Amino acid sequence: MNQWEFMDKEYIWHPFTQMKGWNENKQLVIDHGEGVKLYDVEGNAYYDGISSLWVNIHGHRRREIDEAVKKQLDKIAHTTLLGLINKPSAELAKKLVEVTPKGLNKVFYSDDGSTAVEAAVKIAFQYWQHKGLPEKQQFINLGDSYHGDTVGAVSVGNIDVFHKVYKPLLFNTKKMTCPSFYHSSIEGINCEIEFRDFLLQELEDYLKENSDKVAAMIIEPLVQAAAGMLMQPKGYIKGVRELTQKYNVLLIIDEVATGFGRTGKLFACENEGICPDMMCLSKGITAGYMALGATMVTDEIYNTFLGEAAEYKTFYHGHSYTGNPLACAAGVAGLELFEKDDVIENLPPKMAVIAEHIQKMNTMKYVGNARQCGMLAGIELMHDKNLKIPFDSTLLMAGGICQTARKYGLIVRNIGDVIIFMPPLVSTVQQIEEMLSILEQAMQEVFEKVDLHSNIKFSDPCAF
Ligand code: PLP
Repeated sequence: MNQWEFMDKEYIWHPFTQMKGWNENKQLVIDHGEGVKLYDVEGNAYYDGISSLWVNIHGHRRREIDEAVKKQLDKIAHTTLLGLINKPSAELAKKLVEVTPKGLNKVFYSDDGSTAVEAAVKIAFQYWQHKGLPEKQQFINLGDSYHGDTVGAVSVGNIDVFHKVYKPLLFNTKKMTCPSFYHSSIEGINCEIEFRDFLLQELEDYLKENSDKVAAMIIEPLVQAAAGMLMQPKGYIKGVRELTQKYNVLLIIDEVATGFGRTGKLFACENEGICPDMMCLSKGITAGYMALGATMVTDEIYNTFLGEAAEYKTFYHGHSYTGNPLACAAGVAGLELFEKDDVIENLPPKMAVIAEHIQKMNTMKYVGNARQCGMLAGIELMHDKNLKIPFDSTLLMAGGICQTARKYGLIVRNIGDVIIFMPPLVSTVQQIEEMLSILEQAMQEVFEKVDLHSNIKFSDPCAF
């Protein structure tokens, strides 16, 4: 064991990690990155097949972003936004307003995805107090939603394995049916369109009776990534926007995972031409360089908080590192690269390669459902794909595949028995081809073992 692995195991408690398994297994120490590859301290190279947990956009050590951060570092690393302005946060806010759907005109900065959601929840709650409708306090969320790990964000989340234990600590929400057709089992519903209509009817039925007590609905648009890349039916978010507008309920769209090009458009909302009342951003906002969150709001919301000091309409919320200049400088450089490199325009052939592989994976014996939305993909394993019978979760099957892929130079991660694939947008067609070929090789290898030894079990420190 090298000294860093030793220190890590001695001193660090890793996020979303069962530390027993972590400590018992050999772990990789990353030394540096270049483009879409990560290099460990032994000099081995790995494709970054999950964009360093869904954040990296233009590759590692991208010259333009490196230079922007270094230039800012020569001026100042941090100064507060409480009572002061800094140049990069102003420049990034202007750019964010320009690139997000029309109508989102103000930016409230925070530190990450969870805090961007936390701010949105509190803004929605306070907004209705200022509007003279303080009884509008409830939040509507979706089954299997994930919005982060702070207590407010967990309250509007809905993934049992992560959230159940905290139930007594959370505020109540109204949960709507998870909009994943593959995982649905509603009698009499035979296709995605019928399923979408069912979901929208369920929402309308609730709003018709209860909208006077509902503050906001929060959704991840098109894809619920952290639940295992669950995909929503076409037209669903458009329908949700229409209903929330009709019943005077704010719509918070959480684009933390889907934003900055992942779905093939700069923001997932654009796929259905909608504009929410609030949009939560993080991850790709700094192209994967630094922690930063942003909650975008409409003028209507922002203006509702305006008043004299003595009216106490202020949004009393913020963090020490809010609007950090280094992070914002990275954000500005990252957005400039979207234009300079025609990132969005160059995505279709990359998405097409992913689609080809997804199609192929769907023919594999233990793949229940491989699915894709733009540059996002999830491969869900099933012991019996026809009957949709999963593997025993203690076998850690998908985790075993992710570990096997590392041997061949690919880092991917699983959520339960779903393997997540989310390469940096800068990856070339050839690199994506290579990444997915490695993944298929790893899948094949594990599937063959399953066929040979029915009792195979993996020890995977990364599995949930
Ligand atoms: N919202 C969504 C949709 C996410 O996928 C995530 C993280 O995966 C978050 C919020 C939380 O972001 P963070 O981990 O930066 O707090």
